[in-house]
This record gives sequence, structure tokens and C-alpha cells, in this order.
Amino acid sequence: MKKNLSPNHLLIVGGGIAGLVAGVRSAELGLRVIILEKGEDINYPCNSRQSGGILHIAFHNPKRPFQELINAINTVTENEAKPELAKALSITGTRLVTWLQEHEIKFMKFNQQEAYSWCMAPPRALRAGIDWKNKGPDIAIRHLVNEFIRLGGIIQFKSRVTDLIMQENKCIGAEGLCEEKSQTWFAKNVLIADGGFQSNKVLVERYITPNFNNLFQRGARTGCGDGLLMAKAVGAAVTSLDRFYGHLICEDAKSNDNVWPYPEIDALATAGIVVNDSGCRIADEGQNGVFLANEIAKLSNSKKFFAVFDQTIWEGPGTSARIPANPLLEQAGGTILRANSVNELAFKMGVPSEMLTQTLQEYNSAISGNTLPSLKIFRSEKVKAYEICNLPLMAIPICPAITYTMGGIEINCDAQVLDEKGNAILGLFAAGATTGGIEGGKNSAYVGGLIKSGCFGLLAAEKVATLEGKKFTITSSNSTETTGIREFENIKYTKNIKKIHRLSRFPYLFFLVRYGKSISYLTTSFVFFLVLILAGSNLNWLAIIIAILTGILTQIVIRSCIEMIVMVTELLLPETE
Ligand SMILES: Cc1cc2nc3c(=O)[nH]c(=O)nc-3n(C[C@H](O)[C@H](O)[C@H](O)COP(=O)(O)OP(=O)(O)OC[C@H]3O[C@@H](n4cnc5c(N)ncnc54)[C@H](O)[C@@H]3O)c2cc1C
Repeated sequence: MKKNLSPNHLLIVGGGIAGLVAGVRSAELGLRVIILEKGEDINYPCNSRQSGGILHIAFHNPKRPFQELINAINTVTENEAKPELAKALSITGTRLVTWLQEHEIKFMKFNQQEAYSWCMAPPRALRAGIDWKNKGPDIAIRHLVNEFIRLGGIIQFKSRVTDLIMQENKCIGAEGLCEEKSQTWFAKNVLIADGGFQSNKVLVERYITPNFNNLFQRGARTGCGDGLLMAKAVGAAVTSLDRFYGHLICEDAKSNDNVWPYPEIDALATAGIVVNDSGCRIADEGQNGVFLANEIAKLSNSKKFFAVFDQTIWEGPGTSARIPANPLLEQAGGTILRANSVNELAFKMGVPSEMLTQTLQEYNSAISGNTLPSLKIFRSEKVKAYEICNLPLMAIPICPAITYTMGGIEINCDAQVLDEKGNAILGLFAAGATTGGIEGGKNSAYVGGLIKSGCFGLLAAEKVATLEGKKFTITSSNSTETTGIREFENIKYTKNIKKIHRLSRFPYLFFLVRYGKSISYLTTSFVFFLVLILAGSNLNWLAIIIAILTGILTQIVIRSCIEMIVMVTELLLPETE
């Protein structure tokens, strides 16, 4: 076995957003750091790269005051999130977004909904299917890798870490395969950022679903649980592992790449009902799609599931998502069954007609009689329930799709891995989808994968820097609190802060908007006198009127252009402090 005695301060397992944020932050804080990534080259697959690129905390703008964000996390998780982690995330979110901007990661406001305030730019296209190449998150990952290397970090591809090395209860390195050969890497600290265990058949079947193949992999398929296993092997505590972040998608995804990862069928399923191959409802549709995906995944005695709805739902909630099922699913070749009676629909679905009829009758009567909670399978109304009666009746064969696992390694607010007694394991950190403690719980609560990964990557790097005696300060616009020893001394990052105005990245537009009024007056005067001069000796009242009108027209055109730029800016470019 080749021994590589390295003086690294930090060894990072995995180059997703958690690992890269930690890597870049450590390098700029003056640490020697290496990232081990099992992917083959700079275009390696990972969930971060293939994501939608939206940074939110429980669907709220991460730049909100931190107490509001804590409340939002507590609401979606029904207080199941670990308070110290919820607080660390809420305080760090705003800083992460600013930090990413300062590292030239581009954002835009995707639409007017608060959750979409910070979308990595450019965004994916508004169509069904796979569309992540050269989009915001893909560009961001490549950029962070280059930034990491520029700052002196080393990234080693084709390196899969499988074990940790411990010495006197302290983690001092890791072992694994590099280009298929065994290798050992030593470092003062190790950060596990391998992205979860969603693609490990044994673990998924042990904790999440009885049948791995019934759960569609809605991501890069790189999260194989190595981090969880190696952490457990050295005594790390883990949270409950049974919940995942995912959605309902059209079952055709198993053979048609055009219908995943979007559109999700969540909006149709939650406004209507979900039935199994016996025509019976199986879970509370009124929660949300993530919850439904989890509930369906747990079932072992049904093989097929359908979202059942009607024309009203199709034309209402069906069009509501960012990438809506109506009309994109059908355009992408996804199956939608339509029928003018319940019998016909049941026939097309291949489910018993009497049972589907009974299910729909009971459900519709419960809505009209206001007795939804008393249904045998409870139906809450976090999402509005619609009667299913307007023809055509419709159904989509669906399957649960897993994006990443929400339970994982227990950490504290500095991303240090905890043992069963709640003590930090020396030298061992974890961040991102491999960790638990915020998301999941009985409601399968989703708080935000990218922001969680980035924030704890940042916090891990800062904790290692602190332990290494680096002194620095952090300022957070949504809080007066800090989370460690952070005195300012010699940190390039804080010195180099560029005041980012929304248009400052586009100097000509910025100039036009800033001096728009003066430019419009100057141009108007210029046009006015030009017309007069051109009129020359024929100067008469008509020439003066034409000059005035041309001047006014010039003024209107320039002012409209400026307003248009401002409008586009307000729509697309997110606020900065
Ligand atoms: C389609 C899709 C859309 C999404 N949209 C959003 C969104 O809009 N907003 C949001 O907040 N979240 C979104 N997410 C979730 C988000 O992408 C993840 O939560 C987040 O990227 C996890 O980051 P990570 O760094 O922990 O893991 P990853 O990005 O998965 O990175 C883990 C890395 O570790 C490497 N690795 C794994 N095992 C090893 C090993 N043993 N040794 C070495 N390397 C290893 C992998 O190759 C990978 O590169 C989306 C995900 C998907 C798939």
C-alpha cells in the first residue's frame, strides 16, 4: 500500500457544493487542503451540478432576518430540526449567498415567488427532461473547482474514499482507491461531503423502501453512502435514516429521459388523489409531494401507483409549478390517461372499476360534506383538495423518485461529527446531504439541499481554520451573532469584498441607467439642434416644430429603454445588501 504522508490541514471527501465551498473557504483562509473526488475529471457528476440551483431556506429568502428563518424551519419540520443546526443554517445562509457572489457565482431571481429569489444563473430551460449542462449550477461547480485550484488547493479525481484512519480517538486521514489502487491520505482533519446514500441498494432497502428498484434515482447517482458507513465505523452517531428528499414523477421516467427530473407530478397528486393498483388511496395527499413520495416508497404490497385528477385540476394546479406537468409532460411523451367515465378510466389504468368508483365517491362526498379528516385514509388540507368530477377524468402512472437522503451523520453547528454521547469526534467533520438533523422527520420536511450543504461546508472550513489558529472575522447582515472565534486579521476574503450592485456587472447598462436623465437631455438637445441645422436656410416654424417633436421622441425612446433595463433588472437580478 502506498503511503502518502501529507501535511494537509483538511482532506475533503467529495467535490459537490459542500466539499467545494469548504475547500475554497479553507484555501482562502490559508489552509492546505485536498479534495478527493471519485469522479473522473472536472465534469464529474454530482447532485449539486445537476440541481435546479435554487438557494432557499424552507422556501424563504436566505437573506431574511435569521429568527424568521428559524421560525420557517421550525414550521416545515414541526420543530423536529435540531435547534442548534437550524440556527447555524439561518445565520449562515445570507453569508453563503454573499460569499458565493463574491466568488463570481452568478444568481438571478427566477420569478416573483420568494423561494426563487436566488437561482444560479443561467437557469435551466422551462421544459421537461434533463437540462443541466452549462446551466448555473454546472457552471458554479466548475468555477469553484478552478477557484479552489487557483487558491492552491489540490483536487484528486478518480479517488474513492472508503475508510477513515483513527489514532487515539482522533481522525488523522482516510483510505480508499485512487485510480483503482489502494491509497492512504493523511491530514489533520477530514470532512465527509459525499452527498448521501440514495444510490446504495443495501442501505436504501434497509432504511427507506423494501424494493430499491421501485424508487427512481432522480439525480447523479453518486451518493453511495460511503461517508455514512465510514463515519459509523468510527463511532459517529446517525439521525433517523428513513426519509428522503424527492418527488413524484411520471413512471415513464424508467424508460424516457425526457420526463425527469421535471416535471414533478406533485401538484396534480396533491390537488387530486393517489391510488394503488387496487384503486385505493394510500396516503394523505394534502401534505406535499415530498411526503407522498416517502409514503409510497414505504409500501411493499403495491406495484403501480397513479395520480388521479380531473380537467379542473389539470388546468389549475397542473399548470402551477415552475416546470408544470400541463402541458410539458405530454409534450415530452409522458403518459396521461383520459376518460369520460370512472369505468373507462379504471379500465385504462388496469385497476378494479368498483374500487376506483368507491374511492372517488367517498372522496368527493368528503369534500362536499366537509368531512375529509374522517376518511379512512386521512386527508389534510395543507394543499387544497378538489372534487374529482369534471370530465375528462385523468390519471398519470407515477413512481416515487429519490433525490437525496435527508437523514445521516450527526453534526454540531460547526459541522463536527458527533459520537453517540454527543461529543465531537476530533478531526472529523461532515457537511451536505450526508448529514442529518435538520430535514426529514415524520413530515419528510425539506428545508433546502444546496443551502444546507454550502453553509455547513463554510462552517466546517472556518472551524478547522479556527482550530489551526487562523484569526478572522465574519459579518452577517441578518444577525449580530457569530458562531466561533472570528477575529479579523489577515483574510483575503473580507479584504476583497466588492460592493456588488445589481447592475454593476454590466458596466454599459449601469452607466446608461445611472446617468440616464443627463444622457436623455443631452441627446434631446443634440437632436433638436441637429434638425435645426439641417433645416439650414429654410428655417421656419415647421422646422422648429419638427425639431421639437424629434427631440421629444428621442427623449421618450431613451427613457423607455432605461425603464426597460430597470424592469428587467428588478425581475431577474436578485437584491444584494
Ligand atoms: C434534479 C435535482 C434538482 C435539485 N434542485 C435543488 C434546488 O433547486 N435547490 C436545492 O437546495 N437543492 C436542490 N437539489 C438538491 C441538491 O442538489 C443537493 O442537496 C446538494 O447538491 C448536495 O450537495 P453535496 O455536496 O452534499 O452532494 P453532491 O453534490 O452529491 O456531491 C457529492 C460528491 O461526492 C462524491 N463522492 C461520493 N462518494 C465519494 C467517495 N467515497 N469518495 C470520493 N468522492 C465521493 C460524488 O462523486 C460527488 O461529486 C437538487 C438535486 C437534484 C438531483
